[in-house]
Amino acid sequence: MEYTLKEHFGFSTFRPYQKEIIEKILEGKDSLVVMATGSGKSLCYQVPPLIAKKTAIVISPLISLMQDQVMALKERGIRAEHLSTAQTNTSAQKNAESGQYDLLYMTPEKACNVPTSFWSRLLNSGICLVAVDEAHCISEWGHDFRVEYKQLYKLRDVLVDVPFVGLTATATEKVRNDIVGSLMMKDPHIAIGSFDRKNLYYGVKSINRGASFIDELVAQISKYVANSGSTIVYCTTIKDVQEITRSLCEAGINAGMYHGQLANKAREESHRSFIRDEVQVMVATIAFGMGIDKPDIRHVIHYGCPKSLESYYQESGRCGRDGIGSDCWLYFSRGDFGKADFYCAEASSENQKKAIIDSLMAAQRYCMQTTCRRKILLEYFGEIYPSNNCGNCDNCTNLKEENDMSREAFLLMGCIQACGGYWGLNLPIDVLRGSRAKKITEKQFDNLPYHGLGKDFSANWWKTLGFQLISFGYLVETVKDTYRTVSVSQEGQKFLRSCRPDHQPPLLLPMTS
Ligand code: ADP
Ligand code: ZN
Repeated sequence: MEYTLKEHFGFSTFRPYQKEIIEKILEGKDSLVVMATGSGKSLCYQVPPLIAKKTAIVISPLISLMQDQVMALKERGIRAEHLSTAQTNTSAQKNAESGQYDLLYMTPEKACNVPTSFWSRLLNSGICLVAVDEAHCISEWGHDFRVEYKQLYKLRDVLVDVPFVGLTATATEKVRNDIVGSLMMKDPHIAIGSFDRKNLYYGVKSINRGASFIDELVAQISKYVANSGSTIVYCTTIKDVQEITRSLCEAGINAGMYHGQLANKAREESHRSFIRDEVQVMVATIAFGMGIDKPDIRHVIHYGCPKSLESYYQESGRCGRDGIGSDCWLYFSRGDFGKADFYCAEASSENQKKAIIDSLMAAQRYCMQTTCRRKILLEYFGEIYPSNNCGNCDNCTNLKEENDMSREAFLLMGCIQACGGYWGLNLPIDVLRGSRAKKITEKQFDNLPYHGLGKDFSANWWKTLGFQLISFGYLVETVKDTYRTVSVSQEGQKFLRSCRPDHQPPLLLPMTS
């Protein structure tokens, strides 16, 4: 194995997990590989065919991605080709059947639509594995669900005894289980690497959208441009992409633009100029995504809250692939959180709708929490982060002073309780802030003693407090259908009972009043 690695790829040692994964595949075991972007997943399916002298089938969602990989492999003297439904060239298919390739890349559509005779001929020549790259596309819980991926299990009937390998950088347990289930993996070998990208700094800031923020952003990016490395600015709408690109260009910054409404040619051109460092800044929607393998991206900025932490992790993860310190800033505004309906429009089932809302809420919590960002991200992916202070995120580097929030916590928890405990955070906060909206007067919540007592703080401030009380266990969130309610936990009840106005135990939270 080491010989093959050196001979074909020029590397002298395997990275963590690679060797063990390759061994399991060669033993014929199904495998699930969950590792961060840039950790070297591709090698896990590229080495076995060279050792087994049998073809590896690689299912990949994007033709451009396949082309890049095939080209890179050919340069290393490895026999690789790709097949897609768009191709008219049948000679590649003929060559493939007779086992001429070490690696054969296919779109999922192609793999499910080639005649069975193709597979039986290729089986005769020898298939060592089927790799399903970007395997999270199988899951409705993932951020990039693709219907065609759901059909891949059909290959199992034809390719009996060939090990299947699912690879992804998205690691929530639901997604993992979906991959194993959907590909009908039998007792798979599961390799989960750490998701900690130590060289990335994570920062989040609440902003007011508009011209004055864009000026600040342009100033920030000018500083970046003065140094080396590239920057991606992710926007949530095409309109924002256009506006920010215009502002950057007006300030004399050479910025490119990428979104779904550009013609293919313009998009390719844009992508290329970024890769070749002809532009240092790319302003884009999340359409600018898979296949960006540029090692020296130093900054990824999100203008607007992303739709999930999975997509945030992937998008921000495009920076610092070379291991050098890089930073990820997320700028959100309150309006970003009202977009659930917009995102749900693409849902095809109730289950999927719930998944979309859940994901959005997790991203929202990430924005509002005042504890270590890295810890929040890693724990979201099921990893235990052993410290409360990573020293490399905004919440860890600007430690907020802890203040006695007993009075405010008492008000919020008391009000949630008084409203019945079956609302989200918004309604009790509106009551505290003295709203007389119809929803409130109808229920006579304006007669509660809490009504108007929280006027001194903004709704956002109260929400941040609410999220903290949830993360400290004083409040609990329950999900019913697509609706989330917040109620006071037992711990919270204990706090409410022990709260006498003159001698209360101080509740210290990292917040300023
Ligand atoms: P992923 O698919 O997990 O995002 P890649 O497979 O694209 O990651 O690998 C990322 C980079 O790491 C590539 O440039 C690859 O050549 C390099 N790499 C992979 N394995 C090794 C290794 N054993 N030694 C050195 N470099 C490696
Ligand atoms: Zn931290």
